[in-house]
Amino acid sequence: MSVSTDFSVAIAGGGLSGLCLAQYLMRAGIDVHVYERDSGPFVRRQGYRIILDRYGLAALRESLPRPLYRLALSTGDEPGGQLRFTDSRLRDAFTITFKDEPYATRQVDRLTLRSILQSGLDGRIHYGKTAVAVDSDDPARLRLRFSDGGTAPANVVVGADGVGSALRAQLMPDAHPTDTPMVGIYGRSPLRHHGESVIPDTLRTSGVLAIADRPGRAFFFTPMRFGQRPREAFARLAPGSYAPTGDDYVMWALLLRREEVPIGVRGHLLTLWELAARMSADFHPLVRRLVDTAELDATVLNLFATGQRPHRWAVPRATMMGDAVHAMPPFGAQGGNTALRDAALLGKRLVEARTNGTPVEVAIARYQNEMVPYAFRAVDTAARLMRRLTGGAAAPHWVLTRVLPRLHRVTVPEA
Ligand SMILES: Cc1cc2nc3c(=O)[nH]c(=O)nc-3n(C[C@H](O)[C@H](O)[C@H](O)COP(=O)(O)OP(=O)(O)OC[C@H]3O[C@@H](n4cnc5c(N)ncnc54)[C@H](O)[C@@H]3O)c2cc1C
Repeated sequence: MSVSTDFSVAIAGGGLSGLCLAQYLMRAGIDVHVYERDSGPFVRRQGYRIILDRYGLAALRESLPRPLYRLALSTGDEPGGQLRFTDSRLRDAFTITFKDEPYATRQVDRLTLRSILQSGLDGRIHYGKTAVAVDSDDPARLRLRFSDGGTAPANVVVGADGVGSALRAQLMPDAHPTDTPMVGIYGRSPLRHHGESVIPDTLRTSGVLAIADRPGRAFFFTPMRFGQRPREAFARLAPGSYAPTGDDYVMWALLLRREEVPIGVRGHLLTLWELAARMSADFHPLVRRLVDTAELDATVLNLFATGQRPHRWAVPRATMMGDAVHAMPPFGAQGGNTALRDAALLGKRLVEARTNGTPVEVAIARYQNEMVPYAFRAVDTAARLMRRLTGGAAAPHWVLTRVLPRLHRVTVPEA
């Protein structure tokens, strides 16, 4: 592939959106480099799954070479499934059923997806580079500056550095995210114990949000089964790329109020896990078993934040995407999908600009004007869902945990 040298893009952050944009631009022959803070591609366990909706899947289809897109689908879980809302004893309140179509929603392992997104970008991802600012003395020739004092020149800079973005204060000065009252302790546990699935057959294809009697507490879990083993699928479709081991697992999250997590336990895996075990003691035995069998090093704390609509973009040839712009609580599973959608949209606008001569500032402004409405609709929906499902309002909580479960049969026997 011939790579144009007259147009270059520097991306801060090699997460979902940064890598997806790099794939899009590479395919179009644009000179792109990704600068990632982590010291290597797999230094952090990213051991959870992500549900891709039609926007996330469309973005991958538009950005990735065909074999890599097929790899994402073939290693993903089977299409369809349900999301069940239950009380703490796993008695059904109501259920949402997903379309049983391969391109509607797919659950994929995040580590596998990240590996797919890195494939073919050899020499274009630079690890151990923490972006701190964008120098714009020459507006047509920006420089992305790093904490080690180095810089990288580029015509366009993109901040894709996640919820704790270092570039946001400079590029979107009026849009610092606000904290929400809720946090999540995330973990993962093996799906099988002595060869038997720990998830009963009734919940085989279900994600479950179990809402506790006490408002402001809930437990989420969902099994992740690999369609094809990553090792075999990568050998066929992306030989030479790193293939995660691909053992099936259950991802879970205990959702609780921020003030219930003492500052001292943050960042300490054992105490975080102990807190999750203590706080889930009143749930169904299946929930307690998941926490008991957790892989300790996959336990993480996530403090939920809500992004604020940007009203001013300070550097015309620099922009941002993903959680760095529109952080949202994980209700509705739209954060990653929206980040991927941003990447494909920005890629499209930049490629159009190079092809038809539109000034790059205009292309970027167009991306921003299109992105903000859909992204902040998703933020608003996620914040509203969080309030409804975990808020202190007595009536909805009473209906969810007392009324609806009584109308349904018991889903999971406790014996
Ligand atoms: C447990 C869990 C489950 C989730 N499930 C879903 C789901 O089902 N569906 C969904 O749509 N979303 C889901 N999400 C949300 C989704 O993961 C995020 O919205 C998505 O990863 C955002 O992508 P991003 O590219 O903006 O940021 P990230 O993927 O967070 O990537 C940011 C990258 O920037 C790097 N970085 C940070 N600071 C700097 C810096 N200064 N310089 C250089 N690099 C930097 C980080 O190391 C990281 O690699 C889930 C999140 C969690 C935690």
